[in-house]
Amino acid sequence: MQKIVGARSRVTSFTATSAALECDESLQLSSITKPIAMGEAVVGGTALTIIAGPCSVEGRGMLNDTASAVRRMGAHALRGGAYKPRTSPHSFQGMGDAALDLLAEARAESGLPIVSEVMDPRHVERMASVVDVLQIGARSMQNYALLAEVGRTRVPVLLKRGLSATIQELLHAAEHIRVQGNEAIILCERGIRTFEPSTRNTLDVSAVAVLKAETHLPVIVDPSHAAGNASLVTPLALAAIAAGADGLLIEVHPTPASAMSDGEQSLDFAMFGDLMRRLGPIANAVGRTLAAQRMVA
Ligand code: PEP
Ligand code: MN
Repeated sequence: MQKIVGARSRVTSFTATSAALECDESLQLSSITKPIAMGEAVVGGTALTIIAGPCSVEGRGMLNDTASAVRRMGAHALRGGAYKPRTSPHSFQGMGDAALDLLAEARAESGLPIVSEVMDPRHVERMASVVDVLQIGARSMQNYALLAEVGRTRVPVLLKRGLSATIQELLHAAEHIRVQGNEAIILCERGIRTFEPSTRNTLDVSAVAVLKAETHLPVIVDPSHAAGNASLVTPLALAAIAAGADGLLIEVHPTPASAMSDGEQSLDFAMFGDLMRRLGPIANAVGRTLAAQRMVA
């Protein structure tokens, strides 16, 4: 079984290599990204992977409209929360199981693979039978029972960095999944909590460079939860790709002002189209493409 970081690892398969992490300079680093299939799409190859969709699934119409819009504009996968980890228990908690049925329909209609967050180990089996990628949210990054449960599936896992987690803690969380046998792990930088209040979180672009250098796992960036504001999403997305990210996770909603969660940071279709147009030249400048994909087995 391939370790997540290379032979330079010192303590676990994971303690990594640079000054920021534990290191053993005498050993060889394995940092060549290993692509992961997500349904028909792939993440970690030369072509970037764009995952887009609403924060929460709110109904059939908005989900299918979003799926067809983002697909037309070049997205490779559809995101949509069925179970939502809301700070307040009085906020919308997601449509639950009903949303999973809608996500399955949206996949059948659009052909896009589905990414959705799992919050509860008891939901893993059902969700694994519906979605193409199981998302572990920032608040669940250190829920070890949940990590073990998704580790026992063979469904790719999109693991988000915790709100105040170090890079090493993120890698240890990934290791909790890997030791159960699931090596299809996509790391996601989504901003960390700092002293800076102008953004919801601070996008740690350094994490992209460190993770790309230290591990063979694909690394994507969620600029939506970092920015907290739609007008900042595009510049952060461009920076992420320039820094070497393998893809993006973007919140898109038909009418952000009426979204039931995270409307302030959601792009409308026009803004998403603009982002996709601006992404191409940046991708090309760093040797990547923004193209339709097909997994080559
Ligand atoms: C989300 O993707 O909608 C979400 C809740 O993200 P995070 O876990 O990064 O806060
Ligand atoms: Mn959200």
